[in-house]
Parts: sequence; C-alpha cells; structure tokens
Amino acid sequence: MIDLSGYSKELSKLFSSSENILLICHINPDGDAIGSQLALYYFLKTRGRNVGLMAPNYLQEFLKWMDGADLINIFIKERKKCRKLIEEADLIVMLDFNKSNRLGEAEDSVIASRARKVVIDHHLDHGNFADLIISDPSKCSTSELVHELLCEMNEVQFINKPYAEALYVGIITDTGNFEHGSYYSRTYRIVADLLDAGIEKEKILNLIYNNYSADRIRLLGYALNKRMVVIPEFKSAYIFLTKDDLKEYNHVKGDTEEFVNLPLSIKGIYFSALFIEKDNFIKLSFRSKGHFPSNEFAAQYFSGGGHLNASGGEYFDTLNNTIDYFLKVLKENGWRFEDKM
Ligand code: 5GP
Ligand code: MN
Repeated sequence: MIDLSGYSKELSKLFSSSENILLICHINPDGDAIGSQLALYYFLKTRGRNVGLMAPNYLQEFLKWMDGADLINIFIKERKKCRKLIEEADLIVMLDFNKSNRLGEAEDSVIASRARKVVIDHHLDHGNFADLIISDPSKCSTSELVHELLCEMNEVQFINKPYAEALYVGIITDTGNFEHGSYYSRTYRIVADLLDAGIEKEKILNLIYNNYSADRIRLLGYALNKRMVVIPEFKSAYIFLTKDDLKEYNHVKGDTEEFVNLPLSIKGIYFSALFIEKDNFIKLSFRSKGHFPSNEFAAQYFSGGGHLNASGGEYFDTLNNTIDYFLKVLKENGWRFEDKM
C-alpha cells in the first residue's frame, strides 16, 4: 500500500495549474478503465477544468450506457481530432495501465506530446513513460485508487451520481463482482458510501452482466461443452476457441469476456486458461484462485502479465502448438506453483 497524501497534493497542484487536461485509458478498455476515467472526468468538471476524454480503440457494448461514455473520443476512429486533443493538452492522465504499448495506435502521439504526463494504475512492473506514476497494486481497481486520491484532496466525496456509478462499475468489473482482488475492507466502505450516494446496484449489475446476446450465451455453452479440457493432475483447466468457432456464433468484441473464470468453479481447479485464435497469434487469458501467481506464469511463458489472479499474454504460433507449449510448461514448472494451490 502506498501513502497517498503526497501524491494527492502533487496531483491536485497539477489539476489546478493545467489549462487542458486529457484523460486516456488503455486499449480494449474494460469497466475499470472507463470507470476510473469517467469518475475523474466528473471530479474535474466540478472543479471547472477543461477536460477531454480519449480511448485508443472501441468501447465494448456493455459500457456504452454509462453517463459520459459518448464523450470519449476514439483514436482509431477520429485520428485528427484526437491528435489535436493530445497536442493541445498540457496535462495527460493515463488510467489503468503500466506499459505505453497499451495506448495502442495512440502511443507515438501521446509519448511525443509535450504535456506533463501522469499515470494512475494498480498493475505491477511499470514502464517509465510518465512524469508521475501513481501505482498501487493493493487497490482492487484503478477506480478505487482514483477515488482515494480525490478523497485526500478533502473535497466533496461523491460529486454526483454519474461519478458514483462510474466508480461502482470500475470496482465490480475489476473484482468480478467482488469475487477476486477485493481483499480489503476499505473497498466495501467505499461501496457503502456509493449506496448512500444513490447508486442503483441492481440496475448497474443488469446493465453490466445481464445484457448479452443469445449468440454469446450459446458460444459459452459450446465452449464449456466442447472446448473445455480439465487436467486434474495439474489442478488446471483450459478452454480454446478457434476462429471458426467464433464465426459460427457471430462473435463480437467482448463476447468471450468472463469465460476464463468459469473453470475455476470446478472443485479442485485452481488455474484456468483461455486460448482465443486470432489472425496470426493466440491471445491468452489466465485466472487463478488463492496464491497461484497467474501473472508470473503469463510473464514468464507468454510475454504477458497482469495481476496475481487475473492475467493475460500472447503466443505467436498455431492454436495446437500453443496448447502443446502450455501443457509442456505447466508440466515442467507446475510443481513450482503447487504449494500455492
Ligand atoms: P483479460 O484476461 O481480462 O483480457 O486480462 C486480465 C488482465 O491481464 C488485464 O487486466 C491485464 O492486466 C492483464 N493482461 C491481459 N493481457 C495482457 C497482455 O497481453 N500483456 C500484459 N502485460 N498484461 C495483460
Ligand atoms: Mn483495472
């Protein structure tokens, strides 16, 4: 846990001394990326600041209902406008990522910008791509960290309902609705405050989790029935989906989100992997229960990283070869993690 008061003071000064503030989240933004971005946006607006919003690429359907989501400029769709926002900014705040390549195609423009740059995040292993990096992996979400930094500024705690909703979306999506990564009581105290601020918990839950297409539910059924392999001797399971599988079920971005969590509900399974076949590589997602360091596994064998219990990576080979390699490293190195299971 880091001491927030110094960071909060520094951040507050930067907010006050900047004319044009630009908030940017990571590529393929999840609920925490958008939640932390919008919460900070509403805070800065109540301070009367001039604030722009940008995401490197598309927003997923389940986040588009959020107040302010339509104000987020998409770099790959509006390059000219976004480059102008980046050039005119004198402060850029980047949210929820630790490496500059998570800016996707916006990376070069953002890095070249003369603006002062701040990162607020909760991942490990930070790249050195900002003037001020505020990162605390003990936080359940970047949204929680943003909120605590703002609370340190001794201003109104819950600015308005859109702020409270954005914060709640960030917290529930990064913890799988409090299933993982939410070990500390402070998270629940914040949630209690959010309820007092008038958030409608069931409404948000339905908008986030009960908003899928029938195709997505059928794809999930197929994945669990035909594409899940359980390996009890390694206390592990994996699911793989080919490009043809995805096509068959009219896959759209975000459909396979959460699939990787499901094998963990099998008794005795502590580590789960999801392999998705892309055009020239395989995208991997990992989840674990308990102390199994899925992020170390991802970093060591799949050029990836993430959090202890939720991580990801990629492998440039065919699906079959990637699965073979996964099984090989699990067999050869699983023993190192066994006591963690
Ligand atoms: P997901 O499985 O939901 O795509 O990703 C879970 C977490 O793993 C993300 O929040 C992110 O921290 C991390 N992650 C996913 N893919 C990658 C990757 O390719 N590289 C790195 N460094 N981290 C990743
Ligand atoms: Mn996050």
